[in-house]
Amino acid sequence: MRAPGTLTWSNDVAVVMDPSAIPDLGDRARRLRIYRLLVNSFTPLLAIALLVVVLRWTVPPLLSLLVFVWTADAFLLAALAVPWLLVSWAFAFGKIKCPSCEGPFTSGFHLWVPKACQHCGYDITARGKRRDS
Ligand SMILES: [Zn+2]
Repeated sequence: MRAPGTLTWSNDVAVVMDPSAIPDLGDRARRLRIYRLLVNSFTPLLAIALLVVVLRWTVPPLLSLLVFVWTADAFLLAALAVPWLLVSWAFAFGKIKCPSCEGPFTSGFHLWVPKACQHCGYDITARGKRRDS
């Protein structure tokens, strides 16, 4: 037996495929998701860079592979550093508004930005489910 909730994924895909189904809120939520992705991708990239540095000394046979990974990782970190700083700053100072309640989406500095507004609990990853609010 399938629960009614199993259709949720395809419903979300339908919303993505049909732009007219997205309310104005969806556009701002999508931008917010991109900002959040940017901030949240920095920490794992930094962790990978540190891990590679550690592995470089502990597992020397992997050196050629590690150099490749580290170069790609360092390139991404360098490319993301400035936008990451700007967006993190914007989140920390409440410059990025919640699409639902117009309040600051988060306050304070986050290495990992939550997916829901800290004021109204609006979940930017659950588009189309709270259209009535
Ligand atoms: Zn909110």
